[in-house]
Amino acid sequence: MEFDYDLFVIGAGSGGVRLSRMAASYGARVAVAEDSLVGGTCVIRGCVPKKLLVYASHFPHEVEDAAGYGWSYRPGTFSWAALIAAKNREIARLNGVYLSLLEKSGVQRYDGRATVADAHTVEVAGHRISARHIAVATGARPMLPAIPGIQHAITSDEALDLASQPKRIAVVGAGYIAVEFAGIFNGLGTQVDLWCRGRQILRGFDEDVRDALASAMTQQGIEIRTETSVLGLEKYRDGTIGLVPEGGTQGHYDAVLYATGRAPNSARLGLEEVGVTLDRNGAVDVDEYSTTNIPSIHAIGDVTARPQLTPVATRDGALLAASLFGDVRRSVDHEYVPSAVFSTPEVATVGLTEDKARERYGVVDVFKTSFKALRHTLSGRDERTLMKLVVARGSQRVVGAHMVGRDAAEILQGIAIAMKAGATKAQFDETIGIHPTAAEEFVTMR
Ligand code: FAD
Repeated sequence: MEFDYDLFVIGAGSGGVRLSRMAASYGARVAVAEDSLVGGTCVIRGCVPKKLLVYASHFPHEVEDAAGYGWSYRPGTFSWAALIAAKNREIARLNGVYLSLLEKSGVQRYDGRATVADAHTVEVAGHRISARHIAVATGARPMLPAIPGIQHAITSDEALDLASQPKRIAVVGAGYIAVEFAGIFNGLGTQVDLWCRGRQILRGFDEDVRDALASAMTQQGIEIRTETSVLGLEKYRDGTIGLVPEGGTQGHYDAVLYATGRAPNSARLGLEEVGVTLDRNGAVDVDEYSTTNIPSIHAIGDVTARPQLTPVATRDGALLAASLFGDVRRSVDHEYVPSAVFSTPEVATVGLTEDKARERYGVVDVFKTSFKALRHTLSGRDERTLMKLVVARGSQRVVGAHMVGRDAAEILQGIAIAMKAGATKAQFDETIGIHPTAAEEFVTMR
């Protein structure tokens, strides 16, 4: 049977763009549909704009630290409008880069929302298009709980584009997006309360990391309210918003940011109708080659239950293109995926937490250090850096590395290479450090 395309990709985000371009580079005839802006969550309303705001939030710290080094500055002023305008210019530039990448690689673009009509047909903007393969790369979206007054809340999407800087904000949630935005707003001078249901922020991260970040955030003036369920939101006459936990409304916030989880964009896509299996959270079920139970339908990125990270989506997109149109068929590999939280201070992690390593390997050796970085001997800032290695006792392989502190993400990327290559603790120890750095502690922990 003759198809219009060899591959039709739904969604031009991190995963979809990489998959489309790679497939086209193997000679496949490829089309991609996007119903918003090409670039997807990461470029338009995720990693990139978020990190730009994180940079903005660090300048007041830098200026404070400079005093210990002999510099004196008069108090500066900050323009939220100028920051958001600059951020938007950069996002528009990147959107243009992505559009031209697709064009140059010969991928046909369809603007509009696509749905799956059958195992080889999609519908978009009034067209019915056939394809040998269909890939779902529709990502995920913020999830809001169904509680009274939730219409007064914003999500990370709106937080990146607020018309003005809130004086007081409540961040509800305890995952990486919640703590990142808490750090951004706090650094920019907004008073921040973080409300979370659990006992501690960053569930799933190493316990020492969770405690270290929570205490650093508290020290910076963020109020963390743990074990508090928000049952509703209430808008006052003056336009501020209160949160309703058990026992009465609290707080007068200019904005309430909900970051309590993201849901896969799998609904109303026609997937269930053609028989594609979804898990109970709505994520598309795929095998290790990113193929669903329908052999011609595939899925990558945040719409699956895989780690919700851009480099995972792009890698899995590249592997799927190679499997379908290249000469290698390689399964995805999600062991030792490094990740970072761009909180203040930063968190980065590779491999297993101490608890998970114990579950998997039984006996583990743990090496930990907590110190005041050289930079802060003169700045006077009372900030500690935490580093931790978890080693499987039997193999002596380093199976977990964790850091809380400046440049944690930049440092852990290199550590991830060593761990992926199977480095043992002895090999870490044999490595000569770079002095004087914080990073050298990773090779001197005894
Ligand atoms: P997306 O990038 O979301 O792309 C999906 C695309 O599909 C979207 O453009 C959407 O408009 C489109 N679409 C959906 N349905 C349809 C349809 N029916 N028809 C046509 N088009 C459709 N990851 C990191 O690695 N590092 C970070 O620092 C980081 N920070 C983040 C911060 C925030 C605030 C958020 C929300 C996410 C962050 N992420 C980060 C996660 C990262 O953005 C995602 O993992 C990544 O974008 C997933 O790529 P994807 O291709 O699966 O989906």
